[in-house]
Amino acid sequence: MSKKILVLPGDGIGPEIVAEAIKVLDCLRHDHGLDVEVERGLIGGAAYDQTGKPLPDETLALAKAADSVLLGAVGGPAYDGLDRPLRPERGLLAIRSELELFGNLRPAILYPQLAAASALKPEVVSGLDIMIVRELTGGIYFGEPRGIRTLENGEREGYNTLVYRESEIERIGRLAFEIAARRNGRLCSVDKANVLEVTELWREVMNGLAPEYPAVDLSHMYVDNAAMQLVRAPKQFDVMVTTNMFGDILSDCASMLTGSIGMLPSASLDARSKGMYEPIHGSAPNIAGKGVANPLATILSVAMMLRYSLDQPDLARRVEDAVGTVLDQGLRTPDIHTPETRRVTTVEMGDAVLAALRD
Ligand code: NAD
Repeated sequence: MSKKILVLPGDGIGPEIVAEAIKVLDCLRHDHGLDVEVERGLIGGAAYDQTGKPLPDETLALAKAADSVLLGAVGGPAYDGLDRPLRPERGLLAIRSELELFGNLRPAILYPQLAAASALKPEVVSGLDIMIVRELTGGIYFGEPRGIRTLENGEREGYNTLVYRESEIERIGRLAFEIAARRNGRLCSVDKANVLEVTELWREVMNGLAPEYPAVDLSHMYVDNAAMQLVRAPKQFDVMVTTNMFGDILSDCASMLTGSIGMLPSASLDARSKGMYEPIHGSAPNIAGKGVANPLATILSVAMMLRYSLDQPDLARRVEDAVGTVLDQGLRTPDIHTPETRRVTTVEMGDAVLAALRD
């Protein structure tokens, strides 16, 4: 039975970059036997404009019925004055939590052709291929109680709660072990077990899982050291697994090692490998409609979808290889352009990936 993909282009450059990713999906359907049905829905500012809500009920129903979701990006200055519950970003948070997407996968891969774009020396980053697995629906971003209160002496105090249940740690741990087993078999769990009891439990649960995954070599690292090691010698890592807040910070740091926000995809998975796939960047209103956005992060998000939700690792590799080919050909959107390479538009980049896929 064919699988259903819900496509949510969103705002800003979202529709432009998603159009290129859909070309790739269509090519895989027609030329490579991928059996999927593609539906479209509204989210973010585009949804607010048409329905008054950033996540319409119809979109949520379609997302729940789909096998996976491909999202462009949401947000833009036109919506910044809206009440918080109506803002585009709220639609995104709501769909993540409604679909229970607890596992956020953010690869940091440096294409050798782009080594000069990294902030670090080429020898430190060339060949970099890290997968950060971040817990996405728990921890301090969701813990209760939270708030700002006024103390008896009139001073105000802000507070949040860092809390993880064993079951929450176990499910993100299992996802990370499984991913590490499919890669190079090295998993580094990042915590602050020397100070925080909640991550002492985190470490205990990870150690408890390890015997079930004999092909994976589990290590532990404190988060402060992990931040330092990511910049000092990032190639020591294969898969990293960590809490929501630590993962938020470390994954942004790792993504910058690769030099370009327009190149990096992400996946957010539920317990049954249903996922939402999106580039890590936002809606880039400053370049929307100009035909200059880099569509490769969105196209690489399709590759992640093929690997993690559609069980098509060979097609995933094909898409990734096609991206490698266009970079070898020296084609660059302005965000990754250097003097010796050829500047192309969003559509030209998408067409070049298609041509490489067909070869
Ligand atoms: P942004 O990621 O949209 O843009 C940051 C910079 O990167 C800009 O200079 C932009 O032109 C550039 N850029 C981003 N994607 C690019 C691409 N594919 N090709 C070339 N250049 C690219 O971040 P921002 O400017 O802080 O936010 C803009 C809007 O996006 C805001 O409304 C924000 O809330 C929203 N946002 C949405 C998401 C999401 O949908 N997941 C994520 C982050 C920000």
